[in-house]
Amino acid sequence: MSGSPQRRFMLDEEQLPTHFYNVAADLPVPLPPPLNPATHEPIGPEALAPLFPMELIRQEVSSERFIEIPEPVRAAYRSFRPSPLIRALNLERELQTPAHIYYKYEGGSPPGSHKPNTALAQAFYNADAGVRRLVTETGAGQWGSALAYAGSLFGIETKVFMVRVSYEQKPYRRSFIQTFGAEVVPSPSTETDAGRRILAVDPDSSGSLGIAISEAVEVAAGRDDTNYSLGSVLNHVLLHQTVIGQEAMKQMELAGEAPDVVIGCAGGGSNFAGIAFPFLRDRLGGRSSTRFLAVEPASCPSLTRGEYRYDFGDSVGMTPLLKMHTLGHEFRPAPIHAGGLRYHGMAPLVSHLYDQGFIEARAYAQNACFAAAVQFARTEGIVPAPESSHAIRAAIDEAIEAREAAQKKVILFNLSGHGYFDMAAYDQYLAGTLTDVEYEPAQEEPVAV
Ligand SMILES: *Cc1c(COP(=O)(O)O)cnc(C)c1O
Repeated sequence: MSGSPQRRFMLDEEQLPTHFYNVAADLPVPLPPPLNPATHEPIGPEALAPLFPMELIRQEVSSERFIEIPEPVRAAYRSFRPSPLIRALNLERELQTPAHIYYKYEGGSPPGSHKPNTALAQAFYNADAGVRRLVTETGAGQWGSALAYAGSLFGIETKVFMVRVSYEQKPYRRSFIQTFGAEVVPSPSTETDAGRRILAVDPDSSGSLGIAISEAVEVAAGRDDTNYSLGSVLNHVLLHQTVIGQEAMKQMELAGEAPDVVIGCAGGGSNFAGIAFPFLRDRLGGRSSTRFLAVEPASCPSLTRGEYRYDFGDSVGMTPLLKMHTLGHEFRPAPIHAGGLRYHGMAPLVSHLYDQGFIEARAYAQNACFAAAVQFARTEGIVPAPESSHAIRAAIDEAIEAREAAQKKVILFNLSGHGYFDMAAYDQYLAGTLTDVEYEPAQEEPVAV
């Protein structure tokens, strides 16, 4: 008998996944298509061609189960993948829970989150198609950091519209993006019609992901050498993130356990989908009864309080209509610290699977999440991103439930990123000055379809 149980489950570089897993191949009911906002007809690939390279459009609509990862993307992944799976033994002990808690740690990538999994793939496919510039938006700054990093590796110039509240709260995220050679503009800006329209109504607008998306799409649509890049929500983004769950499946096998519940925080839904979908494949095939839990902020609760209907992906109404759980594209989320979770909608794939009953959702206020984050830091030694703290809160609550029911339970959650650029938020929490914000529905007419 050895002493304490094994803590870290590592894979070798050659065990890096060779393919992305496409959950569309296994859906019992097909995903409702994106619609043209003018005609309400399904859009064709040509509608997306001004914004995305053909390979990403192909992936967006593909129902092929496995899509090969190009070798240059796998080579780039090797600088931080496979990522570790860690058993939270100290946290388990502190909670005195019979549950086993595992986390997949995505904060070890150069920008500190799961986002380079798709940023590297998107930069590669764009470079391969001869695109020279990418324009994007960023909320908390994580996506801007990831795309700036990926752009620098694949020789692409990057411009980032950064939600103003984050630009002001997180100056070092901005510096990080600039270190990788990208340009950063606070949004709403005066550089675009979309930004000027918002500023005309609200000159002090703190911005939102939806507004920043409108600005980036406008710039990309207006230039031939420039494409747009999105860090979440779309099918191809969720597809690229499935490297997380595929690795985690192999690592859980090494641990000799299978998760009873898989947890991820959900802003646009990509890291949740990334860890969940490869496991969900067995549930869809009737081979497991694993639960899947998406965790969102109480102030921006698109799954738990939103409606499942067609809506715009951006705030101004420039994108195709997506069938998703939404708070309305005009909803302006409160400036909570989990900037990456401040989005009015939820990925169509996650929304669809939630609607079909395969996924559960829960919402937490930010103080409860920071309490979980601090408990996690003091036991496991990693200061989590405010976004990831939502997943930790849910994992701890699941573990406490297991204790109260004296029930064995295997919990797996995705630790989507570290919080080392978010110490100002921790300062506020520790000083007791962080406020919880209630959700207030927007006064808005739904888009008629
Ligand atoms: C962006 C981000 C999120 C939210 O985005 P999803 O697409 O929902 O994953 C969560 N955690 C971290 C660390 C992020 O950077």
